Amino acid sequence: MPLIPLLPIFHRFNRQFFDGLLVKGTKPLVSVRWSDGRLRNTAGFYRHSKRLGGQKVCEIVLSSPVLENLPESAVESTLCHEMIHAWIDLVLKVPEGHGPNFFARMKTINSSQNRFQVTVRHKYPVPIKLPKWWAICPSCGLKSPYKRRVKGVACRHCCETFHGGKWHASCVLHFEPLRYEH
Ligand SMILES: [Zn+2]
Ligand SMILES: [Zn+2]
Repeated sequence: MPLIPLLPIFHRFNRQFFDGLLVKGTKPLVSVRWSDGRLRNTAGFYRHSKRLGGQKVCEIVLSSPVLENLPESAVESTLCHEMIHAWIDLVLKVPEGHGPNFFARMKTINSSQNRFQVTVRHKYPVPIKLPKWWAICPSCGLKSPYKRRVKGVACRHCCETFHGGKWHASCVLHFEPLRYEH
């Protein structure tokens, strides 16, 4: 799935959930972008540092490796979560993480629509590496995701059930490419 543009969603949420306060004139107070492929430990973050190599940085970054294979609602939920952080920092101007202001705004947003829910934790499974293969047992048909092909590995279930727990050629797994569809 190609990464969807974030700015239109940002502007929509800004009007819908933040009374337009995250945009001054036509300029967002915070920039929004996709990460490169390396941001794997979180679905997204908001940062505001006065100086970073001489430049002021205020941005929301969403993780492309974490979110690219998830439905659009996961992108929206993550972006909205980070926009609450930006709103607390730039509009309320209070030092707060997931505190009372965060929870209050999160509740309002969650009860105002059914498309997505904002949560405090970005509870998405963070893939170290997405499985690329289905391993399929020719005997029982069981399919399991594998990151890489493994030669000669046999279906444990069939070996235990039909072959007294011994490896047997009739249940050596076949590998087929796993396709992601979203
Ligand atoms: Zn947060
Ligand atoms: Zn099997």
